[in-house]
Amino acid sequence: MTDTSLTPYRMSIGGQSVDALSGATYDTLNPYTERAWATVPDADVADVDRAVAAGRAAFTGEWGSTTGFARAKLMHRLGELIERDADRLAELETRDSGKLLREMRTQMHYVPEWFHYFAGVADKLHGESIPSDRPNYFVYTRHEPLGVIAAIVPWNSPLLLLAWKLAPALAAGCTLVVKPSDYTPATALELAALLDEAGFPAGVMNVVTGNGPAVGKALAGHPGIDKVAFTGSTLTGIDVAHSAANNLTRVSLELGGKSAQVVFADADLEAAANGVISGVFAASGQTCMAGSRLLVHADVHDELVARIVARAETIKLGDPTDPETEMGPLANAAQLTKVLGYLRSAVADGATVACGGGQDPDLGGYFVRPTLLTDVTPDMQVVCEEIFGPVLSVQKFTTEEEAIELANASEYGLAGAVWTTDVHRAHRVAHALRAGTIWINAYRVVAPNVPFGGFRHSGLGRENGIDAVRMYTETKSVWVELSGATRDPFNIG
Ligand code: NAD
Repeated sequence: MTDTSLTPYRMSIGGQSVDALSGATYDTLNPYTERAWATVPDADVADVDRAVAAGRAAFTGEWGSTTGFARAKLMHRLGELIERDADRLAELETRDSGKLLREMRTQMHYVPEWFHYFAGVADKLHGESIPSDRPNYFVYTRHEPLGVIAAIVPWNSPLLLLAWKLAPALAAGCTLVVKPSDYTPATALELAALLDEAGFPAGVMNVVTGNGPAVGKALAGHPGIDKVAFTGSTLTGIDVAHSAANNLTRVSLELGGKSAQVVFADADLEAAANGVISGVFAASGQTCMAGSRLLVHADVHDELVARIVARAETIKLGDPTDPETEMGPLANAAQLTKVLGYLRSAVADGATVACGGGQDPDLGGYFVRPTLLTDVTPDMQVVCEEIFGPVLSVQKFTTEEEAIELANASEYGLAGAVWTTDVHRAHRVAHALRAGTIWINAYRVVAPNVPFGGFRHSGLGRENGIDAVRMYTETKSVWVELSGATRDPFNIG
């Protein structure tokens, strides 16, 4: 029997609101109440085929001949509509992901900036004329849109991470097929309606919902896709790259992390403690840039640990819609099982639990107490692997060289921070750390105009920043013969 209390969502394909061809649906849960709140189409390969076809039709149709000036106007309009609906979108994001409503409100009011910023790029995508090395040629380049983009996104900041792909792709003139996480499909579907309202032609953004290994994999391996822009875990990213490789489809990957916060003895410890808390306990640690490894100078280890423990023990867990709440639940049952497994492995490996260490005894459900682990060694699973939960492991160092070596001893390289009052050391260490973003005396700040992405297993390519739009274009060189003379056909040049 159909539960009529659930919000029924449909997919957006070619400007139409549609069910899966099979008619299948699944329920999406609110991780705080652990109850279903919406039904969503459970797409399969046939739906992927028609979404890719709709994206191709829009690309070769009206959208393909839209000027950068016209695209910019539509993008500004979309930004305004997202701003208008930001509070509503924030509520949906919280309902689907369990993230704090106050954080989601700030985030949703910030998302429009991506569209305004990249709208500013849409009408400036000019090539260049290149002085030829011979007199009878005129040469110029064009930056042409890549085509139909598959945007595959995770559940931890669903709309923001989609905007990181959608805004530069629209600026470049591409069309998209979006596959949101099965856990958090609502806001991508709502966004499709806002594109319609803004006046984008049908099929510019299509959304297919459903299971990752089925729908996501079919999309990544689809021969009609020109590029896959993926955000998610490193293991899935590798699978996506394999699927795409069969068609030599371009890929950009924003993957996991195990970022280090390096605190020197001369740091402002109050600020550092606050930055460490924000880096690993905000969003219950479910951020790719989580600063989940604390490397602290031995002289200030005990004091910094004491400060973090004192604050962590007062962190208020609870209803993510309550403005007093500081940490909500984990986003789903699988994530809870994963985090608790890591906590068991840490104890078995000999780590000391300085605070937290398991589910919240009063709230139960998907709530895990903010956890700090000391006496960890570099080879422990909790130090090497991304946990994606509120778990911080602490290691001591005594020299700058040792700190850099420990920080770089990770297969990941997404982000990191240096906490010190010595300006020379701050820059020196920032340069030595092998990661895509380094904050100095700060953590967890991003912006549309600043490149973001990972070294090594944290990804391929950069999102944000003016060059991100190049990930959605192909450069074409055009040679024009000026003399009209006939040349020797057996000589190059
Ligand atoms: P995930 O890898 O499980 O899923 C990401 C997306 O891929 C989802 O839409 C999923 O349905 C889809 N998917 C799953 N299997 C697939 C397959 N075989 N082929 C194609 N698509 C498939 O990641 P998640 O659990 O949703 O998100 C958490 C992960 O995302 C963490 O590792 C986190 O670090 C990473 N992340 C990275 C960034 C970044 O910018 N670097 C940002 C946010 C999250």
